[in-house]
Order: sequence, then C-alpha cells, then structure tokens
Amino acid sequence: MSSVGATPRRRVLIVDDNRAIHEDFIKILCPGNSPSESLEKMEEMLFGSVAPVPRGPEFEIDSAYQGREGLERVKEAVAEGGPYAVAFVDVRMPPGWDGVETTARIWEVDPELQIVLCTAYSNYSWDDMLAHLGVSDRLVILKKPFDNIEVQQLANALSEKWQLGRKLGNQMANLSAMVAERTRDLESANVELVQANEQLADATRSAREMAAVATVANEAKGEFLANMSHEIRTPMNAVIGMTELLLDTPLDDQQRDLVEVVRGSGKLLLTLLDDILDFSRIEAGKLSFEESDYDLRQVVETTLELLAPRADAKGIELVGVFPTGISTHLRGDAGRLRQVLMNLVTNAIKFTETGEVIVEVRVLSETDDEVFLRLDVRDTGIGIHPSVQARLFQAFTQADGSTTRRYGGSGLGLAIAKRLVNLMQGEIGMESSPGRGSTFHFTCRQPRQRAGQASSSAAEVSFEGMKILVVDDNRSAREALCTALADHRAFVRGASEGREAMDLLSAAALAGAVFTDVLVDLKMPGMSGLELARLVKADAALAAARIILLVPIGNRYQGDPESREGISATVMKPVKWRHLCDALGCRAKSSRPTAPATRLASAPLGVPAKILLAEDNQVNQRLARAQLRKLGYEPVVVADGQEAVKALESDQYDVILMDGQMPIMGGIEATQEIRRLEREGVLSGALRSPVHIIAVTASALRGDREKFMSAGMNDYISKPVQLGELREALLRWSEGRDRSTE
Ligand code: ADP
Repeated sequence: MSSVGATPRRRVLIVDDNRAIHEDFIKILCPGNSPSESLEKMEEMLFGSVAPVPRGPEFEIDSAYQGREGLERVKEAVAEGGPYAVAFVDVRMPPGWDGVETTARIWEVDPELQIVLCTAYSNYSWDDMLAHLGVSDRLVILKKPFDNIEVQQLANALSEKWQLGRKLGNQMANLSAMVAERTRDLESANVELVQANEQLADATRSAREMAAVATVANEAKGEFLANMSHEIRTPMNAVIGMTELLLDTPLDDQQRDLVEVVRGSGKLLLTLLDDILDFSRIEAGKLSFEESDYDLRQVVETTLELLAPRADAKGIELVGVFPTGISTHLRGDAGRLRQVLMNLVTNAIKFTETGEVIVEVRVLSETDDEVFLRLDVRDTGIGIHPSVQARLFQAFTQADGSTTRRYGGSGLGLAIAKRLVNLMQGEIGMESSPGRGSTFHFTCRQPRQRAGQASSSAAEVSFEGMKILVVDDNRSAREALCTALADHRAFVRGASEGREAMDLLSAAALAGAVFTDVLVDLKMPGMSGLELARLVKADAALAAARIILLVPIGNRYQGDPESREGISATVMKPVKWRHLCDALGCRAKSSRPTAPATRLASAPLGVPAKILLAEDNQVNQRLARAQLRKLGYEPVVVADGQEAVKALESDQYDVILMDGQMPIMGGIEATQEIRRLEREGVLSGALRSPVHIIAVTASALRGDREKFMSAGMNDYISKPVQLGELREALLRWSEGRDRSTE
C-alpha cells in the first residue's frame, strides 16, 4: 500500500506496572488496530484505493511491568541485534526499581536508548533526576495523564533521533573503519617504503663497494699492463736488436729470409703490445691528450716517409696530397693524430697488392681559432665486403678470418683509431668496393697556433718564372706535384713516360721556351728515369735543364748526382715539400739523398764520445754494446744506477745510456743524484757541460717520457732500441753540443 512497510519497524518498550497503560500506548503508537484504521480498510474494500493519509513510522511495542523485567527485555533486544529505539518508563513501579533506577540500569546495557520517564507526580525533582542520571540528551519527562499526540510525537521524534544517531554511528564506524584501513594501507606502504629504502641503501652501498673494487681492479689492471709491457719489451729488445745486428753480418739468402721473419714477427708482437696497451687505456678512460704546437704537413709527410719502405717493397705508390696555402701550424696531440693516420695507411698498404695509396688532406672549414680537417686514405686494394663494413670499428673485428691469416693483425687498430678520433672531436668512416679498393677518412678539430707562429712557410715559396716538367707514370703522384708547383706560380707540365717527356721538352725547346727543371721518377715502366736523364743530357738543346730525380725511398739508387747522368738533385718519394723546395731552390746543391734508415743507421757516427751504459740485463748489455760498436763506440758498462754514479765520480763521460728499472738504484734516482752532484761541483767533469743522459727504457707508457725528463734526463728512447733510433739520439746530442759551444 505504501513504502512505509519497507522501513523496519521501530521497537518501543513500555515499562509500567499498570497494565492499562500498555493498552493505551499500543492504541496510540499502533493505530492499525484502531477503529479509524478499520474504517479505512472497509472504505478501501468498498471504493478501491483510498488517498494515503500521511503517517509516521510504524512501531513494534514490547511490554515490561517492572524495572528488572524492562532491563531483561533491553538485554535480549541488544543481544538479538534489534535494540529498542525508545522506552517509556514509569517512575513509580513498586515494589521493584523505580523509573530513575531502571533508566540508569538500562543505559548501562544500551546507552543509545531514548528514554521517556512517565510520571503523574514524582518524588524526584528534575535536579534530583539529573543528579542521578547525569545531563543527558536521551531523557525526556512526560507528565501524566498523557496527551495522545504528545506521546505519538515523542515516539516519532525520539525514534527518529535514535535512528539518525545510529545511522551517524554506523557512518562514523564505517568512516573510522575506512580510516583504519587506509591507515593500515599507509602503514604497510610505509613498511614497504622503508624496506625499499633499505634495499636501495644496501644496493648503493654494494655499488660503492663494487666501484671501489673495480677501481682497485682497474688500477691493478693498469699496473699489470704496465709491468707486462715492461717485461715483454725487455726480451723483445734483445730479439729485435740482435736480429738487426745479425742481418748486418754475412748471411746466405735462406738465413737472411729466416732472420727477416724473426724480425718481422718481433715487430708485429711489439705493435700488438702497443695496441693492447692503448686500447685498455682508452677503455679505462685514462688516455690523456697532450696539446703542443706541431706542423700538420710534417706529421703527414713523416708518417708517409716511415711507411714508404713497406709500400715500395710491394711496388705500391704512396702519395701525399696537401692543399696549398692552408695553415699547417696547429696545436694538438700530433702523436695521436699520427697514430690514427699511421694505422689507416698501414692497413691501406697491407691490404693492397698493386696500385697506390693516396693520403689527401683537406680543410673542411676554418675560423680564426681552429681548423676542421679531413684526411682521406685511398687505396686500390682488396676492398671490404659491405656486410662487414659496419663492424670494422669494433674491437677485435677483422673483415674475414682468412684475410687476417694472410695479412696478420689484431683487429684493434680501427677500434683504437675510432676512439682517438672521437676524442679529437672528429668522426671516422669508410667506403669500399670489394676488389677495387677502400677509402678511410677521419675528421678532427685542431686549434691554430697563436698569432705570429701561424703563417705557412710553404705558402711563402714562389717558383715564378720556372718551367717545370714532371715525369711520373703514376697519375696521382704526378698530379699532386703539378698542382702543388702550379699553386706556387711555376709553369708546369706533366708527362706519364719518357717518350712523351722527350717530345714535350723538344717541342718547348723548338718554341724557344725551354724547361728549366725536369722532375723525373726513377722507376717507370719502359724508359727509366735514369735513361730519360741520359737522353736529356745528350741532347744539346735540352741539356741545360736541371734534372731532379724522384727516388722511391727503398730504392737502391745511390748514384752520385753531380758526376753521373747529369742529375742535379735527388728527392725521396713520397716527396717532402721542404726537400722539393730545397732541390728546386738550391739547384747547384744537391739535396742529400736520405738513404733508407737501416743502411744509414749502421754507419759509424764519426763523433768522438765517451759513453757509459747503465743496464742490468746481461743480454741487453751485449746488445747495446754491439749496437754502439756499430756506431763506432766502445761503452763502459755498469749494472745499476749506483755503479753509474760511482763511475761518474771517477771518470768523465759525454753520454750515459741509462736504463729505467735497475736493482739497487734505478735510472731516475741515479739521474737525480748525478744532477745533484754536478750542481755541488763534486764530479770530476763538473767544469765541463753536464753529462748527457739518455733514458733507454722498456717503460713505454705515455707520461713515462715526462717522468724521465723531469728527473733531469736529456733524451728518451724506448726499447726495443733500433740502431737508427740510437744513432738519431746520439746525433741529437752531438748537434746540441755543437750549438751550445758555437
Ligand atoms: P688489424 O690489426 O687486423 O689490421 P684493424 O682494426 O686495423 O685491425 O682492421 C680491421 C680489419 O679491417 C682488418 O683486419 C681488415 O680485414 C679490414 N681492413 C682495414 N683496412 C682495410 C683496407 N684498407 N682494405 C681492406 N681491408 C681493410
């Protein structure tokens, strides 16, 4: 009939010793049993639905006739989970508890219960009741006789209040349950956070410990490498040095071949050692770059000069192409630049059987402060298959195993080159077509030298008025020379072989414009350079031309230019610009042909000197003694630094070759001691210039040189000592001495 039925009925307890009162309450609070209700029912039966009369909540009435009984009802209701909303309690209920007592007891069981104390007259005043029950908002007093409406309103209002109170209570309970749950969640999240934090702290601690261990391990590794390098270099010194000496003795062809193999393998082992050392230093981030002034042209030309014998031995033309007019006076680590270039050119020669290797320098851009360079190394070699090109710059990668077996190598060179180039703010790359050749290139940024030093000496040379014919069968070599000379204002023509050259020379002579100079390659197919020179000199119309012979570095031509074949000068190939300028500029003077290092190195030096050799290793003593004898010296040999100091106290020496690591006293301490004694004027040679100390050491790490120099040494050569290097070092000493006595 209405939605009222859906609302649970509110329970009301009547506690009164008068039974009639219970009837009254039922009539008032449960009017469903009243006549008007019955009338409504009859009306509904007769006329259908009746307009709903607004009505309050429905009540369920329970009765108790004494206070104790009332308390029992309340207990039961609470226990059943259906507590009373309101209790109407009579004040006077003899013989048991009165209403005030009953109320106090009931509230102990159900403090929410709303209580109406019903009284006609009372022994209690309000104040008495409050004194008994305390100030409460759950207590109302109803005076008898009752007013029905008042009773109904009270029941409605109080039960509503009770209901709201419970709802609120429930909500509060829910809320606090939620709060408790959230608190629990937060607490467990907090616990997790604390745990995570502890784990993080643990991880950080162990990462720190691992980093410390790694640092120690890294340092140990570095030290190990340095020691290994030292230890391997020492016997290698003997192996390479002795084979060099052996090669200088009479050997039959087979013996020579075998010794050459030993020497080649020794050198390869040494390169490998350097590569591994370098690579591990780069990986450890320990590679330092030095910045000092250098001449780019010189770096490129000396690199080519060094590698030219290899190229020549394979019959490969090695050519350097250098742009005119660029500033070559740069700052940076020339050693590292040379290392990269050396690696690329070495590979190019290694993987090329015929043809040429061209090194071309270009300036991509420049500012007042720096130059952005690109160096290309082009070869006509075996090329590299596209499938492996991308991997080449990774460590220990080689294009194909069979090639490696044929050519040797560690697969570290390009990986090192890449890292070095990156450290020079550049990039390295390559293009290649298998069977036709490869071009490797790299770029780098190099600062210019400070103003004043930066002018290019090459740019100042002028060949104005000179008519030069360049005769070379190799087009790249010929064009490089023609371009460079034309850039310096010479009139230049090129010819690729002898006949063509003769035709050009004759035609020019007929026209009355003779060539002043002819640059002739010694080695040409068909007519050789010497034959061409003879023809020119034999022709009266051409004989005035000066002939400059271009001699491949490993070539055996040792002609005396003044007397034979009318050659005015010889210039080594690959051509060094300064040598060419000398040859062209000082025409009467021949530029001294630089013979290949090995041949020159073995000649006695011809500079008198008393030499002390401090070296603990007996094999190396024998080697150094033999090398020095080759150069015309008989050294006094001592086995450690202390003996060296003693030797100096009793005798005078010009040069000491000082090993670095020796027992009792090492080379550095010995040098410091010698310098101290010199300063104090104790040594017998004190009146002369200080003794020249050359460090000869197997410590080949970067920074070692500085260590020796700052200890007071004058020069440094690293083991294995090659005769040429020893000779150069002694030459440096004698030239320095001559300068200082001039
Ligand atoms: P390796 O010491 O073996 O020469 P690199 O790192 O210098 O090590 O070179 C790696 C490989 O790249 C070589 O083994 C070779 O297969 C290939 N390579 C390098 N340069 C050339 C080149 N100019 N022509 C052909 N192959 C080359």
